[in-house]
Amino acid sequence: MEEPICPIDSSCQTQISALLSPPSTLQLQALSPSNFQLTSLLFLFCSLHLIASFCLSQEYYNTLLSARHYSSITVKQDANFGKGVFAAMDFSDGDLVLRDQMLVGSQHSFNKIDCFVCSFCFRFIGSIELQIGRRLYLQGLRDSESHGCDVGSSSSLSKNFHEMDSSSEDEDQGTHQCGSGSSKDKNPLPEGVVESLMNGQLNLPFSKEFSLPSAVPCLGGCGEAYYCSTSCAEADWESSHSLLCTGERSDPAHREALLKFNKHANETNDIFILAAKAICFTILRYRKLKANCHEGKMKYDTSGDSNSYNASLLLEAWRPISMGHKRRWWDCVALPDDIDSSDEDSFRMQIKELAFKSLQLLKKAIFDKECEPLFSLDIYGHIIGMFEQNNLDLVVASPVEDYFLYIDDLKNPDKEEAEKITQPILDALGEDYSVCCQGTAFFPLQSCMNHSCSPNAKAFKRDEDRDGQATIIAVRPIRKGEEITISYVDEDLPFEERQASLADYGFRCRCPKCIEEEP
Ligand SMILES: [Zn+2]
Ligand SMILES: [Zn+2]
Ligand SMILES: [Zn+2]
Repeated sequence: MEEPICPIDSSCQTQISALLSPPSTLQLQALSPSNFQLTSLLFLFCSLHLIASFCLSQEYYNTLLSARHYSSITVKQDANFGKGVFAAMDFSDGDLVLRDQMLVGSQHSFNKIDCFVCSFCFRFIGSIELQIGRRLYLQGLRDSESHGCDVGSSSSLSKNFHEMDSSSEDEDQGTHQCGSGSSKDKNPLPEGVVESLMNGQLNLPFSKEFSLPSAVPCLGGCGEAYYCSTSCAEADWESSHSLLCTGERSDPAHREALLKFNKHANETNDIFILAAKAICFTILRYRKLKANCHEGKMKYDTSGDSNSYNASLLLEAWRPISMGHKRRWWDCVALPDDIDSSDEDSFRMQIKELAFKSLQLLKKAIFDKECEPLFSLDIYGHIIGMFEQNNLDLVVASPVEDYFLYIDDLKNPDKEEAEKITQPILDALGEDYSVCCQGTAFFPLQSCMNHSCSPNAKAFKRDEDRDGQATIIAVRPIRKGEEITISYVDEDLPFEERQASLADYGFRCRCPKCIEEEP
């Protein structure tokens, strides 16, 4: 197999390395001291660059924190340890430390059957009846088509790898799990019930207690994206969806190219859809910055030539995403368990090839010459790698679960009366009657939190946290000035297992617990 070669990687090399140079990757010690003068000059240059990058990212976090009115935490940078989040006040056990709004996020494709959520904030929308009816309807469709499902995890990567590798047999057929179980252990509802749940003719008892915001369709008319409010619809449109919408408002060639890109992502790995959102987010930010500069709202050095002016605007537009990337996807993705280590090189090459194919499809749909470096394989690989590496699960609990628990908790005769209607529905839904919204997202502040095996905080959704924001809660008292840490892995695992899981994040843990337990 030939290594995919992306022409933009070489034509935009200087700009790409500027986009990809975080302060910590400058390898000063790698410079050869043979020419002392040159070395000191370079050293001076690099140091200045280092200081500039530090200041810029510190400034970025300061601005972000003040825009969100957070005064209880700070983000600090350190040349040795990178970024960290620190308490700017005392917290007690159980206190809310942070609610972090994602920059980009998306629901897993396979989860879209199970949960009907706002495409921007991931709140459940419609009604309890619509959630249930829609799920049963789509499950029915899926079962009758008996299509496979894609999962944005390493298991789907290895499935993909095995499928591409003609020599291997299809051994994992049938063991593949979708978000919702098969139809075997379920009792279908009488004809017409699913439809009346969906169109609002059938009201379930006590469902008013669990009212959800009504679904607002996408402004572009794609019929794919729905929102909890017009403000979410507008925010998503401005953030990325205006470039990714397949509705009537987009021109037919653009729409066709986008549909091809989406199809490929849904059949291979839906992380590409999130990567596309990150690219669109940057392009739209770039256009906004440029418009602001032209209107004179923002001061920017316009004395240079227009290329370097555009390049510095792109760098600024890219800054929010640049805070998260670390390594290329094909270099950092963990090798799936069922792939032999002798196949590792070939596996990584195929992953790279897959990303290249996806990128070419995306490029056909939304290419913008002024943002050309964003369409390089190098940048695409770093964006995907960022979602793979940071601990960025997006989870929102389903109100359907709360609803059935509520019915179960009723006293008779209410309970008996209600269950006459709800029991057949529960039977039709089967054991996994409620599934939470699942996806991946980039949280700008949570992703700065470092790991510890004895953390002082954790990601935890309280009853009132009903959208896709990340919620961080103190698990013991935290003093002002102390670093806030969370655990990226199950901290109750034995030492060796923790270190093995953390190796996927590219580091060996040296927290107090690990130092104590090290054999
Ligand atoms: Zn919303
Ligand atoms: Zn749309
Ligand atoms: Zn540790």
